This record gives sequence, structure tokens and C-alpha cells, in this order.
Amino acid sequence: MPTCRECDDEVDSVVTVKVDGKSRKLCEDCADRAREAHEVAEASEAAVQQMMGFKGRR
Ligand SMILES: [Zn+2]
Repeated sequence: MPTCRECDDEVDSVVTVKVDGKSRKLCEDCADRAREAHEVAEASEAAVQQMMGFKGRR
């Protein structure tokens, strides 16, 4: 049985998710969370860049 690298649980199947450029084998639950966290991080980074760009133009 494969083991999730995040919660150390043995699961029926793991999915490979890229987190910070590294491939990690996670169970569905952790994969969802990792994807969400990654998307949030990307979104907030874009928001910060937007804000800085906005300030720079003033
Ligand atoms: Zn897991």
C-alpha cells in the first residue's frame, strides 16, 4: 500500500502533486489541501505584485 507523504497514512492510491516545484505523493485529502494552499499562495503573491505596481504608478 502506498503511504501519503503528508499525513503518513496508508491509502489505496496516492496522487502526485507538485508543491514548490517538487513532486509529492499524497492522498486525495492532502493533495486537495496542497493544491489549495499553492493556489492561495500564488493568488496572494499576484495581489501583492498588483498592489506594488499600483503604488509604483502613482
Ligand atoms: Zn494524506
